[in-house]
Amino acid sequence: MTQIKRLAVLTSGGDAPGMNAAIRAVLLTSASYNIQVLGFEHGFNGLFEQDFQTLHPKHVENIIQRGGTILKSARCPALQQPGGPAQAAACLHQLQIDALVIIGGDGSFRGALALAEHYKGQIIGVPGTIDNDVDGSDFTIGFATALDTALDAIDKIRDTADAFERIFLVELMGRHSGYLSLAAGIAAGAEQIICPEFGPLTPADLSSVIKPIQHAQLLRGKSSYLIIVAENSYPGGTSALADDLTKAIGVECRAVILGHIQRGGSPVGADRILATKLGAFAVEQLVQGAHLMMAGEVNAQAVLYPLSQTGDRKKAIDPYLVRWQQQVCSD
Ligand code: ATP
Repeated sequence: MTQIKRLAVLTSGGDAPGMNAAIRAVLLTSASYNIQVLGFEHGFNGLFEQDFQTLHPKHVENIIQRGGTILKSARCPALQQPGGPAQAAACLHQLQIDALVIIGGDGSFRGALALAEHYKGQIIGVPGTIDNDVDGSDFTIGFATALDTALDAIDKIRDTADAFERIFLVELMGRHSGYLSLAAGIAAGAEQIICPEFGPLTPADLSSVIKPIQHAQLLRGKSSYLIIVAENSYPGGTSALADDLTKAIGVECRAVILGHIQRGGSPVGADRILATKLGAFAVEQLVQGAHLMMAGEVNAQAVLYPLSQTGDRKKAIDPYLVRWQQQVCSD
């Protein structure tokens, strides 16, 4: 057991529904160990600007159901500057913070490792990102909600696409990972899914997208056709892809960019439960001496996973579903 008197928590990177539920679990679990909790605002920026508040149980009342994060989130370029990690660590030392809980994605965990080179206390990560691209946890906090939000929108687009027998391209978030796009594409019954995991797509190989469309038109005649596209999958973006397809096949293809709507909203039950479990587990494991680990969930069990390995590989998308999608749906 480590003697932790004061702990800090921050949310970093893209916000994800369920971050508030994780903050709540961190605070309530810490309170049960008589550990004081400081909440830093705006991700790692709070360390540079000494922007923090002491959290009490009243601060986390009625936040389990709220999207966003009461601590705000942000990117923090200062941490990536020379001298940045040392400056951030100095803030933690000055405030006599024994341990830091970082709720964020794999980028935030790279920041954690940089900070750890200078910070003498313990650091633990909690995976919070809609991208579900963190190794060491089957799911990240926010993914389940973002998937449902995306599906709600895609289903509505399908209705109008069906009425007008149109081709729609729907762009989903995931700067470096197509996990959300693949999951949403499969759950929405999309005819095609385009994501980085399937290899780069350029104007030179548009035929790989066109052929299945023409094949479907031959088989079904004019009908609705949905293509889910992970962001950054095509030069110029999904609107450029829709324009190029329109020109190539002579049928109007419309692009819809779902954007930040995917990050908002009340977390679904699965995210609230995951966030509560991982936030609580993170604090319990800090008390047990954990350091430079991430609190994750694998096969429904809370586990520790080295922070240094959380971004090593892209989480593998279920190859069974990928094969099925490519064989069956594009026909
Ligand atoms: P998401 O993917 O959901 O947006 P993320 O945590 O991966 O979440 P990033 O923007 O990649 O988001 O990283 C968040 C912050 O982590 C960065 O703004 C930066 O402050 C810090 N960070 C990322 N990589 C490094 C690094 N190599 N060194 C120091 N800090 C880093």
